[in-house]
Amino acid sequence: MWFDPPATHSFPVKKIEFCIHKMETIKPPLLKKRVYPRDEHIISRDNISPNALKVLYRIKNAGFDGYLVGGGVRDLLLEKKPKDFDIATNATPEEVCHLFRNCRLIGRRFRLAHVHFGAEIIEVATFRGQHDGNNGDAGQIVDGMIVRDNVYGSIEEDACRRDFSINSLYYNISDFSVEDYVNGYEDLQAGRLRILGDPEQRYREDPVRMLRAVRFAAKLELSIEKATESPLFALGNLLEGVPPARLFEEVLKLFLSGYALRAFELLRHYNLFKFLFPQSEISIKEDVSGNVLVLINKALANTDQRFLEGKPVAPAFIFGVLLWGPVSKLNAKYLERGMSESQTLSAAAEAVVSGQSRRVSIPRRFHTPMREIWMLQERLAKRAPRRSVRLLTHPRFRAAYDFLLLRAETGDVDNELAEWWTTFIDADETSRAEILDNLTRGRRQFNRRRKPKAN
Ligand code: ATP
Ligand code: MG
Repeated sequence: MWFDPPATHSFPVKKIEFCIHKMETIKPPLLKKRVYPRDEHIISRDNISPNALKVLYRIKNAGFDGYLVGGGVRDLLLEKKPKDFDIATNATPEEVCHLFRNCRLIGRRFRLAHVHFGAEIIEVATFRGQHDGNNGDAGQIVDGMIVRDNVYGSIEEDACRRDFSINSLYYNISDFSVEDYVNGYEDLQAGRLRILGDPEQRYREDPVRMLRAVRFAAKLELSIEKATESPLFALGNLLEGVPPARLFEEVLKLFLSGYALRAFELLRHYNLFKFLFPQSEISIKEDVSGNVLVLINKALANTDQRFLEGKPVAPAFIFGVLLWGPVSKLNAKYLERGMSESQTLSAAAEAVVSGQSRRVSIPRRFHTPMREIWMLQERLAKRAPRRSVRLLTHPRFRAAYDFLLLRAETGDVDNELAEWWTTFIDADETSRAEILDNLTRGRRQFNRRRKPKAN
């Protein structure tokens, strides 16, 4: 949740008139509230998580307003399965927590209520108010966002503070209508992504919104409205101020949710990719063969396919692919400099990962598998007779082999090597011994032919 912390807990502090005044300065047509009654939209309670419904009903029965909001409403209107269900209410977090035994308050400064149902957590946020900006508060930078004193507010104010119009639709549990304060419903129907308020200012407030724009455009196949789109080309450097750990979370969502290829293309199109993976962007640009880009494209297309088929997709593999260009380039450079062959790859991996982690951090638990996939490329290339069988049982063998296949497809490595491994994997024990024998014999002959004759 992006909500930033309030300095004061005063509820309700803002009047609707204030929001209307604020909104007029943003965009007058945003003022009009539209209500889509139950029979004018397709959201059915059957598609809402029973736990979210439980929370909504209990909030309503306690006399508060309860709304489903954000991605849940958006995805249901698009007939997609929401990832999670967020709730907005005029009850304070403390009031929400009084209603549930399984509730925890989270957030040090801006409090949110989390209602736990086993693995499912329903997040309940109190409507958040608009900062009036009259006290000269220019805001502080927290987690790369401009954060000002936060206050609770009205639903209208809450609607204005959200990122995109399509994420600002409210499903009202009291009459099952959808309330729209920002023309989000029309945008959704038109397949249009529009940021709320002044685009550049909203991106400056929180540069992650640029990545969210790309994500929603890629995931929902939306076109980005002109004014929302234009600043994207120039503001990528703002991502440098976002903590690497927050960027990691966003990058995971961009590349592991079934639309990685489209997201990658859009990130590059808007000059955002180079601020997330600077070394990769350089290696793509400098690679005259084009293999680096082809490898990434193929890997991302495969990942999307796996996601569609419900197969697991590993972050270590994706990061391994995205960083392979710089790793292999540096590896070659170290070899040229005469560094020992047994050290170059691991030294290159070390340097690239440490450079990358300054931009988009890669948690430790992904370092090891990613490096193993890289290091195994060398061992796969060697086909050491006695070790080849043992290699098959390496926990990262499958991923490394998939990686090798991709490299062979793009011409980064000899196709014969990939074919050899495919045959070797598929063979039974006796055939494997024969394959290895052939390999050893072939190598002996090759070495004999190469040996200079003694005079
Ligand atoms: P999904 O969960 O499918 O990734 P989402 O839109 O639900 O998409 P969340 O991160 O779950 O994304 O956020 C829930 C809602 O909170 C959003 O729909 C949006 O209204 C609001 N929101 C999230 N991040 C921001 C942000 N950086 N700036 C403004 N509003 C935001
Ligand atoms: Mg969500």
